[in-house]
Amino acid sequence: MITGLPYRPCPLILAAPSGTGKTTIAHALVDRFDHFVFSVSATTRRARQGEVDGVDYDFVSRERFRSMIDGGELVEWAEVHGNLYGTPRRNLEAAQERGEHVVLDIDVQGARQIRERAPGAVLIFIFPPSAAALWGRLTARGTEALDEVKRRMRAGKAELEEAVHFDYIVVNDDLERAVARVRAIVEAESHRPGRALDLSGEVARVRREIDELVAPKGTTGRAVG
Ligand code: ADP
Ligand code: 5GP
Repeated sequence: MITGLPYRPCPLILAAPSGTGKTTIAHALVDRFDHFVFSVSATTRRARQGEVDGVDYDFVSRERFRSMIDGGELVEWAEVHGNLYGTPRRNLEAAQERGEHVVLDIDVQGARQIRERAPGAVLIFIFPPSAAALWGRLTARGTEALDEVKRRMRAGKAELEEAVHFDYIVVNDDLERAVARVRAIVEAESHRPGRALDLSGEVARVRREIDELVAPKGTTGRAVG
């Protein structure tokens, strides 16, 4: 008896206007559930206070970032708010090999590239409950000066228009609810036929078992209990 078909894990793409809460949701998934791993991006941005190199980001020079692009090391990259950010291809490959859901916290330009390059990826747009909430979260986070907060809010206007191109939209009103919604999406996605590792093998196995139990005419089948 099986309780589920073995499946390929989902690369999970979370994108949203800055301050909506995608990083918080990504880390909650990784901290609370088994088989979720965070994709550590490379960036030319300087580390904020409390950020750890190799954990939050791989903080690299522009030269190093350029060599990563030239060497084909990045599955996607983009310039966001004046800095370069990119996802090492290896992050996706390693998660696939280990059977883990890799969570990408990236911008909408990166999400568009991933859609083309990683067809199995699940794209979730994290939607702010209101502009006031976004403003409140960005200012409370305290990581950007007021001018930068305003710049990110204005950039959010264009990013919101991309929501329609995603597979799912999750409003981050209440954090617990938003995390539960994303978890439910991954659960449902894991049950798509296309994600099963060996669906034809499983079908053949149960068909064989049916034949063994219900023997063809003229033979005696095994007794069914
Ligand atoms: P993003 O990665 O989208 O830029 P963050 O995850 O850094 O956003 O979240 C921005 C701020 O909002 C953080 O201080 C975070 O703790 C807070 N936050 C995230 N989700 C919620 C929520 N549902 N309700 C209230 N505050 C939230
Ligand atoms: P922050 O500087 O606030 O950490 O991130 C700024 C923006 O860059 C966020 O929208 C974040 O999701 C995005 N970002 C982080 N890593 C990547 C990445 O690897 N690729 C792309 N395209 N965007 C990223």
